Amino acid sequence: MSDKPNPLAGYFRKPELYVQIPTSGAFNPEIEKTVLDEIGILPMTAIDEISMTNPDALLNGEAIVELIKSCVPSIPEPRELCNVDAELLFLAIKLATYGKDISHLHTCSHCKAQAEYNIDINQILDKFPEVKKLEPVEWGDLKIHIQPPKLESVTRLALIDVEQARILNSIQKTAESNTGENNAELEMAKQFAISFRKVSKQNVDLLINSIHKIETPEGDVYEYEHIVEFIDNVPTSVVKDVKNKIDSLDIKTTDLSVFEFVCEECNEADKVNFELNPVNFS
Ligand SMILES: [Zn+2]
Repeated sequence: MSDKPNPLAGYFRKPELYVQIPTSGAFNPEIEKTVLDEIGILPMTAIDEISMTNPDALLNGEAIVELIKSCVPSIPEPRELCNVDAELLFLAIKLATYGKDISHLHTCSHCKAQAEYNIDINQILDKFPEVKKLEPVEWGDLKIHIQPPKLESVTRLALIDVEQARILNSIQKTAESNTGENNAELEMAKQFAISFRKVSKQNVDLLINSIHKIETPEGDVYEYEHIVEFIDNVPTSVVKDVKNKIDSLDIKTTDLSVFEFVCEECNEADKVNFELNPVNFS
């Protein structure tokens, strides 16, 4: 290593664009206020690009966290980002790296004619919702603070999905290779896996992950297990209030990435959904 400054430093990558995130950092006090107005986006390096092709790293969320660390250095803790913010940053990084156009070869579902379509990433970025900080749900002397889903919890949900699918798959394989008395037992195990998945995914995770903290006169509670136990032991009206509050956040980025292609051959339209979250790419 040489002590003298690298004469090539002036040629290192620079921000290609500046963005604001949908939540304006309302749920991330660790991000500096001055950063939030203009978040600089660097293009990917060769190493970034290679790591985005590693399916394991993509799946456990490590790839997107590392990518944001590399390309959005002003974000101190990418893991703490709200998912909606991470999705926007991911698209912005793609734009900074490859330019605004994504080309897509689409096969018409009506006449099977193929054509190349261009999608402008700016169009998707412009459609992102603005997510405001919410007043907490009050119950007695408690204040339940709601947040949009975090990158980490969405990644965890995706992992649970994969895990459950794996369990189901192996149960099915065992069931196929066995005949007779074991079947009832296996069927039960299968049903258990299915119901476990539904319950864990819909009820618990979504709700709990949307609770940022519970403010009590004695202090704030952040612990996941404590909040799970709390939700299990309060009247249903409280849970409903929390659910309504979460619904009022209304963050639906799935609609943002739906594009309609009108076929030049038969004039029929097809809707195509582009996955925004790289966790779901694999
Ligand atoms: Zn067609």
